[in-house]
Parts: sequence; structure tokens; C-alpha cells
Amino acid sequence: MTTIATPVKPKKTDSSGENQKGMDSNKKMKALVYHGPGEKAWEDKPKPVLVKQTDAIVKILKTTICGTDLHIMKGDVPTVTNGRIIGHEGVGIIEEVGTSVSNFKKGDHVIISCITSCGKCEYCKKGMYSHCTDGGWILGNLVDGTQAEYVRIPHADNSLYPIPAGADEEALVMLSDILPTGFECGVLNGKVKPGDTIAIVGAGPIGLATLLTSLFYTPAEIIVIDLDDNRLNVAKTFGATQTINSSDGKAIEKLMKLTNGKGVDVAIEAVGIPATFELCEAIVNAGGHIANIGVHGKSVELHLETLWSKNITITTRLVDTITTPMLFRNVQSKKLQPKKLITHHFKLSQVMEAYDTFENAAREKALKVILTN
Ligand code: ZN
Ligand code: ZN
Repeated sequence: MTTIATPVKPKKTDSSGENQKGMDSNKKMKALVYHGPGEKAWEDKPKPVLVKQTDAIVKILKTTICGTDLHIMKGDVPTVTNGRIIGHEGVGIIEEVGTSVSNFKKGDHVIISCITSCGKCEYCKKGMYSHCTDGGWILGNLVDGTQAEYVRIPHADNSLYPIPAGADEEALVMLSDILPTGFECGVLNGKVKPGDTIAIVGAGPIGLATLLTSLFYTPAEIIVIDLDDNRLNVAKTFGATQTINSSDGKAIEKLMKLTNGKGVDVAIEAVGIPATFELCEAIVNAGGHIANIGVHGKSVELHLETLWSKNITITTRLVDTITTPMLFRNVQSKKLQPKKLITHHFKLSQVMEAYDTFENAAREKALKVILTN
């Protein structure tokens, strides 16, 4: 599926560029650009400029690839159009701010949140940044994203988080998306409590981030279910008490055996396909919670014929990143060590190779890849 990067636009400035004393190169940058399903290229794009006074221009230091980016590359996310720079995670250094930005200045190091939020609208006031009327998940979706040398961040005051000197910036890339996503959509919505038996269905980066943040609440049993033995082994080193390889189709039986036929207090769906959501429906105990994290592209069957009387709660959520400051403090104190999720390193200019690795995660034993600019 991966194609070698070939810039599609002619270098029209080449002949006249010599007279402009480098002006053109100051206005250009390299970026990973989506060109329709299965098509992407590492190519020249104009360097972003301030559009509103609430914007900041950030030079990317480190970024990463998300499972969502693979969905985009398959054409599953129709809001992403030809020519879009993708990516919604990263850390960087502020290059320029608009006159209305008061929390940041040139030279500050920052975490870029995957969610853009104004902090002022009805939804932001409720802490529901994901539904901000002038933001939400727009980076690498409706506006150009972070898999580039520079990115424009709208509503910079509320959408960036400061990084103090000496922090491990690589670990902090995990705070852009996966840690708050696992924690808010999985652990908080699932109402994980001390002593609970929980199941995490899917041991990719999001499932593992859910596992790491579930440990705040000391569940008694953490059962992780996946098709890939390598990922299940990683889950064990992160604190899973039991793992189930579901490739034989017997996950329900195995889980019921592990829980004396009761099922789990919290079933967390971290894949985004009908089979895994229906697995959660089959393994939730009476009074339990099903917390959906996965991005679903197809409808799933709701088994009300078995669930109507079971006092269960089903939750859905797009990450709000409202817990990022709390998670940041736990990373700083080393209570939370998201660096464990990083398996591969590339230069940003090797992004095509990094995609190839991430797309073949099982073969490459890949979790998160870090791209350094
Ligand atoms: Zn992501
Ligand atoms: Zn808002």
C-alpha cells in the first residue's frame, strides 16, 4: 500500500528562486500530505502563517502516527480531503504567536493537544472540549496537522500545554492523544473502581494507555484481550493480570472461566469494530459498564434481549483532553511512564518508512513510533 514519496507539484520557484536570497526556502516546509485513499507524499508545502490573533505557529520537535491516521489513509474519514497535512499529536517549540495569545511566547516548549478548544463556548465551559464550536478534533482533519516541520495551532492558549525545562519530551508526546483518550473514554467513563475486574479489548497503543491509567484506581483484575501475542506480553509487563488471545474465537468462554462465570465490572472497547463491541456486550457483569473508545465505521448489534435487565451502562466519548494537566503531573512524577509505549524512532523526513512500520505493527512489534524533526 505504501508508495514512495514523489512530490506532485512542479517546483515552479526553482528558476527564479536564486534571486530571492532564500526567501522561498523560508516560506516552505516539508510535510506528510494525504492525497486520497492509499496515497500520501512527503512534499513541499507553504510554511503556515498566523490566520487569527489567537493562533500560534509551532515548530514540531517530535510527532507520532496514530491508528486514526491509518483510518484516514484508508479513506475512512471523509472530512479529510486531498492535500491535507495529517497528524494530531506532538511536542514543539513556539515560533510565533498572535497578539491575543497570552499564555505562550516565542521559544516556549509545548505539548500540542489533539483537541483544539476555544475555552469559551458552551461546550468548552462544560469541559467538553471535543465539541468546541470552533475546535474539537480538527488538527490533521479539517486543518493541517502535525506530521510536518511546522503547524498552525488555533486557539493556542487553550490547545497547547507548557513543557518545563528538563522534561522528557518524548514521553510527553503520549499526552497529545493516547493517554487522555484511554483515561477519559475508558477508565473515567467506565467508572473503574478499586477491586474491580476489568477487561480491555484491544492491546494497541490506546488499549495499553487505558491499562496504564487504569492502575490509578487499583482494579483487582485486569484482563487484556487481543489477537497478537506480542502485544499481550507487553500488556503483562504493564500490569495485566490475565491475557486472552482471541484468535481462536473462544474469548468469551475463556473470560467467563477466569471470572467464575460472572463477567467483568468494566469492559473497555479499544478497537472499533463490531466484533469487539459485541464481545464487550457478552462479557459485562450485571451492574457493569461498557466504555467504548474505538472509532466505529459500521453499526454494531445491541443485544438488548440479554442486556435489558442487567443494569449496565454503555458510554461513548470523544476525548476532551480535560485531564491532560493531571496526567502531565503523573508523568512528571514518574507514577505514569508512557515512554514504555514507544518502540520505534525515525527522523521526521523518514515518515514514509515510519508509516510502513506502523502499518505492519504485528510484524514489526510496533506500538508508538516517534518522529524527530
Ligand atoms: Zn491519535
Ligand atoms: Zn470552545
